[in-house]
Amino acid sequence: MTEYDLLIKGGKIVTASEVYDGDVAVIDGKVALIGRTLDVSACQVIDAGGKYLLPGGVDVHTHLDMPFGGTVTADNFFTGGAAAACGGTTTIVDFAIQGKGQTLAQTIDSWLSKAADCPIDYGLHVAVTDMNEAVIAEMPETIAAGFPSFKLFMTYDGLRVNDDVLMKALLIAKQHGGLVSVHAENYYVIDYYTKEFQKTGKIEPKYHALSRPPLAEGEATARAIRLAKLVEAPLYIVHLSCEDALREVARAREEGLPVMAETCPQYLVLSYDNYEEPGFNGAKYVMSPPLRPKENQAPLWQALKRGDLQVVATDHCSFNFKGQKDLGREFFGKIPNGAPGIETRLAVLYSSGVGQGRISLQQFAALTATNPAKIFGLYPQKGTIAVGSDADIVIFDPAAKRIISKDILHENVDYTAYEGIPVTGYPVATIARGKLIADGGKFTGAAGNGKLLKRKKPQII
Ligand SMILES: [Zn+2]
Repeated sequence: MTEYDLLIKGGKIVTASEVYDGDVAVIDGKVALIGRTLDVSACQVIDAGGKYLLPGGVDVHTHLDMPFGGTVTADNFFTGGAAAACGGTTTIVDFAIQGKGQTLAQTIDSWLSKAADCPIDYGLHVAVTDMNEAVIAEMPETIAAGFPSFKLFMTYDGLRVNDDVLMKALLIAKQHGGLVSVHAENYYVIDYYTKEFQKTGKIEPKYHALSRPPLAEGEATARAIRLAKLVEAPLYIVHLSCEDALREVARAREEGLPVMAETCPQYLVLSYDNYEEPGFNGAKYVMSPPLRPKENQAPLWQALKRGDLQVVATDHCSFNFKGQKDLGREFFGKIPNGAPGIETRLAVLYSSGVGQGRISLQQFAALTATNPAKIFGLYPQKGTIAVGSDADIVIFDPAAKRIISKDILHENVDYTAYEGIPVTGYPVATIARGKLIADGGKFTGAAGNGKLLKRKKPQII
């Protein structure tokens, strides 16, 4: 009789299409059997009675060990990966940022050395910042080597590309089965307001948000969609934050264009009001795009429900409040952009989404795991609970109550943007390829246990 490595008993299995009672047996890191009641022997048995079994979270937007504005993110691949595990995420896709003059292969190599001690499985997108003919020529082999997605920035000095470059990248990616994603904000609008505010002494964190109006995101989103349409390429919009940009994506999808987009928990539950917190506190929320006026939240939730937005990722990019965010005390333009969130994604989205009746449980699994796995070439190895898939499973207690606080999190940063927010529903154990890597709020995995995921061609959904 087969001896299984792990048997998870009595849970409610959640996938993008179903919710049902079942036991799961694991062998060699893969789901081997699923049944209503499995009467098999296993080395380890976990009782998941009263809990959901969710597909391990797939977070396709993280920045670990990333240099930005003269500093480096507070989380590296070990601390960020451990925090992700504790929050129910078993796979990340991080952005390898091309340095000036680097080839794409060099870019990937430098990021792979940073990722060597990642405790969870990881893939890499390549963020192309220095495009030239040689880089264009390298894109097909990069796609074939298991790195089929690229990111281009439409804003940020030193990172941004012009429309001609974006169009060319879209075309090459399309011809070779890759996918281009964009950070869509209008560079010139932001540059204008930033300089105006600085000139007139408007230097506090809230002016970061006011210098990047929703229309600047809407415009760039519309432009990226039109460029993609022109060359008949698929397009993925990262961290969509506002209704104006959303309307462009919804209209494109209505037209049948292969346009996909993600939003992040911060845009669903936090708002511009956070920038009005006393003192320099607003710096905690300085990210791009910025948090938006509250009116934007309801349309984003409706878009998640309708399917106009397909993914909820984090854009985890942590900088300490003391010692890093501080760099911008005298001018918001010097505050490192980004906020932590790799550990809180499932809890925040479940509580405010499923808990408030805004999205279904199946949609929750789709948004946090299945859809990102499909779009970024990881499905069905990742993103679902099915026989033959990797045994990446989150045991999630829908009744567990927590107050989100820096003290219960494992992110290596001195604050959380969600401090004091109560949630109902929390991941209580995380299994990655059949091994318990987080249990009862403790990280139980090990540095370097994550594997590099060479990804297949993206799916359009
Ligand atoms: Zn980002």
